[in-house]
Amino acid sequence: MRALTVAPGIANSARVEDVPGPPAADGAVLVRTTAIGVCGTDRDIVCGHYGWAPPGQSRLVIGHESLGVVREAPASSCVNVGDLVVGIVRRPDPVPCPSCAVGEWDMCRNGRYTERGIKERHGFGSEYFRIEPEFLVKVDPALGEAGVLLEPTSVVAKAWDHTERIGQRARSWNPKTLLVTGAGPVGLLAALMGAQRGLEVHVLDHHEHRAKRDMVGRLGGIYHVDTPANLRFKPDVLMECTGAPSVVRDVLGNTAASGIACLVGVTEPGHDFEVDVGALNRSMVLDNNTVFGTVNANKLHYEMAGEALRKADKGWLGMMITRREPAEHWTRSLQRQPDDIKVIVEFS
Ligand SMILES: [Zn+2]
Repeated sequence: MRALTVAPGIANSARVEDVPGPPAADGAVLVRTTAIGVCGTDRDIVCGHYGWAPPGQSRLVIGHESLGVVREAPASSCVNVGDLVVGIVRRPDPVPCPSCAVGEWDMCRNGRYTERGIKERHGFGSEYFRIEPEFLVKVDPALGEAGVLLEPTSVVAKAWDHTERIGQRARSWNPKTLLVTGAGPVGLLAALMGAQRGLEVHVLDHHEHRAKRDMVGRLGGIYHVDTPANLRFKPDVLMECTGAPSVVRDVLGNTAASGIACLVGVTEPGHDFEVDVGALNRSMVLDNNTVFGTVNANKLHYEMAGEALRKADKGWLGMMITRREPAEHWTRSLQRQPDDIKVIVEFS
């Protein structure tokens, strides 16, 4: 079968390869892949900056944002032939640590987790994949192709789950305003889930993008092309989805009293900025502010994500997928184009 592969650590090693069918050891359910979403992590892997092949192998089948249709499933499993499904990315570490032991592999303490398409396990970017039934999530068939957004939405669902749990440290917590920095797929999905919670939504972008302005407007939100320092308000909840060092610096300490800043974007090391630690500490202490980081998602978050997508306007979700590339030309999906929001690779 055709598979999208890379040699992790080696730049520009991406190609389409003929590989054997998925091994039975990957799980009892066989899935025919419909589409794979492409994100920054995939680009980092293809650039040679990130990613690990399975032990003893030199190449990794890439693809962690999946969508497919079940072709074979044991009678005892929770899915049936024909179901539209998405595979969960992370697997618990083998120790397991206290978090992985209770199914919270997204909170793994020892870093020995594995991830499909990223870390030591082949991904979903092949014509077929096999998977353990408990690591599959069913998608509402009405979502169709937009089901490929489930994995990035699960990351956002975790960010919201933890933000709300932190907020509930004060019985009076009742947020009104949300600022999302970054208007990529994760930022837009964070805005969607904020709008679903009835918040006044603001999305900050670094350059004008008409479709994104339209999408934020359709959520009832306000689209800004600016820097965080120029905004005239302090949000109750801030979701930082750029990972851009100057934006991260500007958001720290810039939430309202009892505010929560959630860091979702990842930054490369090696960016020194002057920060007035005294002022930052003063505002954080005197205003009971919180800054926290979040990554990945567990099964609960995939289920929350499925519910968020199910409730979303289908036309709005359709605007998110701006380009489709066939599997045989999947490397085109890695080249950024100005109108891109989410690019997907299709398996015919
Ligand atoms: Zn663990």
